[in-house]
Amino acid sequence: MSEEENELSREEKEERYRKAGEIAQAVKKELEKLVKVGARVIDICESVEKLIREKGGQPAFPCNVSMNNVAAHYTSPPRDETIIEDESVVKVDIGVHVDGYIADTAVTFCFNSEFERLKEAAEAALKVALENIKAGVRTNEIGRLIEEKIREYGYRPIRNLTGHLLEEYSLHGAKTIPNIGLPSGDVMEEGEVFAVEVFATTGTGVVREAPYAYIYRLLPVRVPVRLTSSRKLLRIAADRFKGLPFAERWLVKEIPAVKLALKELSTKGILYEYKVLSDIKGSMVAQAEETVIVRKDGCEITTS
Ligand code: MN
Ligand code: MN
Repeated sequence: MSEEENELSREEKEERYRKAGEIAQAVKKELEKLVKVGARVIDICESVEKLIREKGGQPAFPCNVSMNNVAAHYTSPPRDETIIEDESVVKVDIGVHVDGYIADTAVTFCFNSEFERLKEAAEAALKVALENIKAGVRTNEIGRLIEEKIREYGYRPIRNLTGHLLEEYSLHGAKTIPNIGLPSGDVMEEGEVFAVEVFATTGTGVVREAPYAYIYRLLPVRVPVRLTSSRKLLRIAADRFKGLPFAERWLVKEIPAVKLALKELSTKGILYEYKVLSDIKGSMVAQAEETVIVRKDGCEITTS
């Protein structure tokens, strides 16, 4: 078959974006039962990923469960013993894809009444963003609205995390939606799909990388590798995950020396490491995220 025959029509693509969105919605409904103080984070991650598959999708990335000052990119490593802490603020970020068409959505669970308003700030800022997205609007204008709303609540937006364009088997397209007002931005065009993603924090408003990662993604780099495990991992990352992010946890049974393989491939620049991202110790971060298709006069939210 030629490339042309493989290419889906815009309607067929949107059908898949919607199906991914519906699966994400259904999984979100189950979260309340899973995300409780004392629950094991690894059980939440695995339950979410299993539910996605049962409902006919695939995880577009490992389920992220980020607690307190951790903003993003925490998924359980193998045999993780982390539990949901009392008084915590927990972000659960879910990615679903259907044939490469992605839904990306996140919710915050607040187990500390002191930070209920922080969660509200993120949700209110997301709402304003969603109400103002339509074809022709610039992403920096949306960023300005997000920042304004979060500051109205007395918190800070996270300036180095953004919403992002979604494309086929691609989680982070070229266009981004900042959490802050910037002098320039990208024009959002009709039919484009964006993950609109808002972070409010009691901390500095800047996240830093931890020295560790549990999520990886294959980069388009081809250099010779030494380990058999590395070659196997490369095949799986390309054929099964098709360049989308994956977890060490997903591969431990299949690849005995997965840790060594991940190390070799990361060191050689073949894998991108999603380092865990946190604001300063003692701070709290809330997140709200939905996926939208940009329309002429607004946007269609696929994930709610
Ligand atoms: Mn997300
Ligand atoms: Mn996202």
